[in-house]
Amino acid sequence: MTLKPVHVIGGGLAGSEAAWQLARNGVPVILHEMRPLRTTAAHKTGGYAELVCSNSFRSDDRDRNAVGLLHAEMRRLGSLIMQAADANQVPAGGALAVDRDGFSAAVSAALENHPLITLAREEIAVPPEEWDSVIVATGPLTSPALAASIRSLTGEDALAFFDAIAPIVHRDSIDLDVAWFQSRYDKAGPGGSGADYINCPLTREQYDAFVDALLAGDKTSFHDWEKSTPYFDGCLPIEVMAERGRETLRHGPMKPFGLTNPRQPDVKAYAVVQLRQDNHLGTLFNMVGFQTKLKHAEQVRTFRTIPGLEKAEFARLGGLHRNTFLNSPQLLDATLRLRAQLRLRFAGQITGCEGYVESAAVGLLAGRFASAERRGEEIVAPPQTTAHGALLTHITGGHLETIDAGPSSFQPMNVNFGLFPPLAEPAPFDAQGRKYGRGSAKNLARKSGLSARAITDLERWLAGETAVAAK
Ligand SMILES: Cc1cc2nc3c(=O)[nH]c(=O)nc-3n(C[C@H](O)[C@H](O)[C@H](O)COP(=O)(O)OP(=O)(O)OC[C@H]3O[C@@H](n4cnc5c(N)ncnc54)[C@H](O)[C@@H]3O)c2cc1C
Repeated sequence: MTLKPVHVIGGGLAGSEAAWQLARNGVPVILHEMRPLRTTAAHKTGGYAELVCSNSFRSDDRDRNAVGLLHAEMRRLGSLIMQAADANQVPAGGALAVDRDGFSAAVSAALENHPLITLAREEIAVPPEEWDSVIVATGPLTSPALAASIRSLTGEDALAFFDAIAPIVHRDSIDLDVAWFQSRYDKAGPGGSGADYINCPLTREQYDAFVDALLAGDKTSFHDWEKSTPYFDGCLPIEVMAERGRETLRHGPMKPFGLTNPRQPDVKAYAVVQLRQDNHLGTLFNMVGFQTKLKHAEQVRTFRTIPGLEKAEFARLGGLHRNTFLNSPQLLDATLRLRAQLRLRFAGQITGCEGYVESAAVGLLAGRFASAERRGEEIVAPPQTTAHGALLTHITGGHLETIDAGPSSFQPMNVNFGLFPPLAEPAPFDAQGRKYGRGSAKNLARKSGLSARAITDLERWLAGETAVAAK
């Protein structure tokens, strides 16, 4: 039986992988890519899966880093992006880095040579109604015409155009002998308990030193095309606030009011940094209002001067750049389809993941889901204990809405072990049978335990043993 083609819009990391997965499952694909006829502010070539910035796919160590685990899972799932990356690897220590031209050429050749893939070089402004199955994978720099038509389906606020991200910290790296749980004025709010935030207190001297470090810190400069994009209200970087006056932060994200340190109830903190739960599991907390353009190394150094965060491990650092992404937890169903128009499925960075590898992995899932749908098979999503499942859950519903009233706090994120359900029984002993203390050996054992569980569960899922049918 000849199957109708699925249309994939965008031949970047996600779209190329989605097209490949459809074709390897026997489903014809038409892949629409606007380059080189029209380009974006960051792309330079007409090649498929062009890497717009660094040439690194980050750590390849699946026992220490969740992105390494994602690599391993993608290899197991027959990923074209991983095949091309492995074949074009350049030396980069524990990281997987690639020759970008060789990588893009390998992806392009594989797509061109597959008999079920048709390549169409054109911009799609509105997906025609007769296309009954479409994957939109047009990335953070989606063309303005298509962005406008997506916005008409999702509402004005659904597509963000300026990505202001605050750092996210692993909860178990926060020193709760210094910091404490409390909501401002103990307000419970909808869904809260009155003790929802982690509070880190600063004395006047610590606050002054912190403001000085912000003012002196090395900042990332804006790309030319970013300069014309305005800040959203309430999204000013902290260093810009600090430039407006030494006390500005104390009256903004670092205000100490309504908070009492239970260990020193008579001493008022001069300023307080608050962290808010970021995922349902409660393993990740974001630094409230701490969007910043400080360079990453500078952020780690400066934020570790905050009492309670001296040993903070960051799941994501702050940043500010133009971006286009959906409020996916509200707009997409469990198989990445737009609830308002089920023929449209989304993939890649536009869904609210961050990074080359994550974008390709979400493309891989979208391709698998769309091919199962086209073949009349049941769609079974990977369990959340796998890296693919953890990422999918973050995108389609794992994220908490803000505790306070305010805009949705859903923000793009790299894959990290904080997105995985904790192990039921944390391994208490090392390979020699010695009990772990606190610290890095225990942390490493936790990560490799999560990784081993993910690989086992991926195999079970592939064997059809994990029946998590995603309707
Ligand atoms: C400036 C910048 C730098 C980045 N640097 C890094 C980095 O160093 N490391 C990292 O891991 N991540 C980085 N990212 C984040 C992200 O991982 C990449 O943008 C990644 O390429 C996203 O993959 P994607 O497939 O979703 O989108 P893309 O790879 O951007 O692919 C989208 C494709 O869709 C095409 N397209 C857009 N609109 C249309 C249309 N209407 N019709 C047809 N085709 C269309 C585009 O031409 C493009 O080829 C960066 C992002 C930006 C914006």
